[in-house]
Amino acid sequence: MNPQQSQELLSALLAGEPAIFHPNTGQKIAEETDIQLSPSARAGLEAPRFCQLCGRRMVVQIRPTGWQAQCSRHGSVDSVYFEQR
Ligand SMILES: [Zn+2]
Repeated sequence: MNPQQSQELLSALLAGEPAIFHPNTGQKIAEETDIQLSPSARAGLEAPRFCQLCGRRMVVQIRPTGWQAQCSRHGSVDSVYFEQR
């Protein structure tokens, strides 16, 4: 499968799967660690800097209206998926 087309990260985020690595700090989240995302981050308003599946630093593009972040292995996510309707 072409990693450019992977939707693993997007699927994990949309499914609400718990992050393995913190999307804003890149730290590995231990089982007992209770990471609290800010409300804006939880709502997808803050661009993640790290892939929550592997901890890689992602390529992030900030737009006036949102953001897109791409992990080289797990694919890209876009804030449009998390905007409230
Ligand atoms: Zn990744």
